[in-house]
Amino acid sequence: MGHDSDYEPIVEYWVIAFFKSHSRNRAYYRQFTAAGFYEAFDIVMTFSEKTSCQILWYKEKRKCDSKFTELGIPLLESICTFCNKEFNNIEPIKCNYEKNDFSCKSEFCSLDCKQDHFYFKHVR
Ligand SMILES: [Zn+2]
Ligand SMILES: [Zn+2]
Repeated sequence: MGHDSDYEPIVEYWVIAFFKSHSRNRAYYRQFTAAGFYEAFDIVMTFSEKTSCQILWYKEKRKCDSKFTELGIPLLESICTFCNKEFNNIEPIKCNYEKNDFSCKSEFCSLDCKQDHFYFKHVR
């Protein structure tokens, strides 16, 4: 690492907190990766335009208190386990199938994908 790289922002996890537009009694949290404040700012602005959510705050995950680092925070952009599409649902649809010690962590862009996944993975 030379001196020049001292000023390169590093890629790290950021946490965003927001209200859904129609309900202000619960804050939602998502995480995403960004290299530095300006990239994080861009991502947050794009998200707020796409969803019209009300952004409360966003900051580096390492600066958040331990409540956030221990939580499993969903990613801002998720990939559908079934069709591999990127999606931006505010609440991803989860499989949540459980059997013995196994619990399925798959997330889907639509209920159709969830049903197909469920049939192929857990029924057939
Ligand atoms: Zn899908
Ligand atoms: Zn599953």
